Amino acid sequence: AQALAALGLGLHLLRDTHPAVLPIANLLVLQWPVLLLAGLRRFYQRKEMTLPAAFDWSLLVGGYLLWLGTWVSQADLMWRIAAFSFAAGALALYTAALLVRLDGYATSAGLKTLSVALLVSCGMHVWRMVHSVIVQHDPDSAQVLLLAGAVIPVMLSLVMVYLALLLTYERTQHDLGESQRQLRELANIDMLTQVPNRRHFHELAGRLLASPGAAHGASLLMFDIDHFKGINDRFGHKAGDEALCDVARSLRDTLRVGDVAGRIGGDEFVVVLPHTTEEEAVAGAARIVDPLARRPHPPLGLGFGVVRVRDGGSVDAALHRADQALYEAKRQGRSCAVIATGNDENPVFAESMPLGLMPM
Ligand code: GH3
Ligand code: MG
Repeated sequence: AQALAALGLGLHLLRDTHPAVLPIANLLVLQWPVLLLAGLRRFYQRKEMTLPAAFDWSLLVGGYLLWLGTWVSQADLMWRIAAFSFAAGALALYTAALLVRLDGYATSAGLKTLSVALLVSCGMHVWRMVHSVIVQHDPDSAQVLLLAGAVIPVMLSLVMVYLALLLTYERTQHDLGESQRQLRELANIDMLTQVPNRRHFHELAGRLLASPGAAHGASLLMFDIDHFKGINDRFGHKAGDEALCDVARSLRDTLRVGDVAGRIGGDEFVVVLPHTTEEEAVAGAARIVDPLARRPHPPLGLGFGVVRVRDGGSVDAALHRADQALYEAKRQGRSCAVIATGNDENPVFAESMPLGLMPM
C-alpha cells in the first residue's frame, strides 16, 4: 500500500508534463487505506471486521469515480481537489471506524495509533476540502493544497513503518501468551476430568499448606470408585470414562474457594479442605456422593479415607495416612468413609460411615 501510494506521489510530480497519468496517480494514492485493510484482514484472520472486504473496495471505487467524474466535468482545480479530498477523507474515516470496532482494539496500542493516524489524515483531507471550496481561485492556495495532498501520505508512511513493527510485536506477544496458557493447562489439568493432575495437585497442596494459617485445621479426603475395574469390564471403557467425569464434576461442584483437589490415579481423587474438621470433611464426602446416587446406570459407589493434616506436616504424609484409611474403607465393605487418627505406624480407624450408595 505504501509503495503504491509513493508511486502515485511520484507520478504526481510528473503531472505537469504528463497530465494523462493523473487518473493513475490519484488511484494509487487513494488505494492505500483499502489495501491496508486487506492486509489487516489477513493479519487478523481470527478477528471479524464489522463489514466485508467487498465494502472496502466498493468504497474505493465509489470515491475514485467521484473524483474522476469531477475531474472530467470540472475545469476548476479547486473542485477537483475538493472531490479528491472528500474521497480520501471518507476512506480514512471508514478504515479508522473498522479498526475501532475490531475485537481487541482497546488493548492494542498499534491499532489505536493507526486509527489516530487515519483520523488525523481524515481531518487534513477535510481541511483541504473545505479550504479548496471556500478559498477558490487563489493560485497560492492551490499550491498549498497540492502540497498538503503530498504531505499526508508521507506522514502516514512514517507512522506505518512503526506500526508494522508494533502490530507484529503485539500479535507475537498475544500468541505466545496464548500458547503458554495452553501449555500450562495441558501440563497441569487432567484432560478427561478437568481437575488438576497428580503433579499439579502436589504443587497446589504444597503451596496451600505452606501459606500461613491455611494448614491449621485442614483435612484431607482421598477417595476412589468402588470396583471401577468392574465398570470398565462390564460396561466398556467409555462408560468408565463417563463415570470418572461424573465423579470429577461432583467433586468440582462441591469445592469451596481455597479447597485444592486433584486426580492422583486412575480412579483416585484427593481434596485438601482448609479449616475443616474430619467430621466436616465426611459431610463434604456425602455432598460429593449425593448427586452420584441420582446418576442413571451404572450405579457408582465411592470409598473415602479422611485424615487431619498435621500442623507442619507434609502433603505426602497426609496422603499416606489417607491411603490407609481408604484401604480400611474398602475392607469395611466400600461405599463408606473412614477417618484415620493415630500415627503412620499405628493408625486408629474410626467406625466407617456409610455414604448411601450400594456397593456394586
Ligand atoms: P476397588 O473397589 O478396590 O477400588 O477396585 P477397583 O476396580 O476400582 O480398583 P483398581 O484400582 O484396581 O481399578 C482401577 C481401574 O481403573 C484400572 C484401570 O483399568 C482403570 N482406569 C484407569 N484410568 C482410567 C481411565 O482414564 N479411564 C477408564 N475408563 N478406566 C481407567
Ligand atoms: Mg477403585
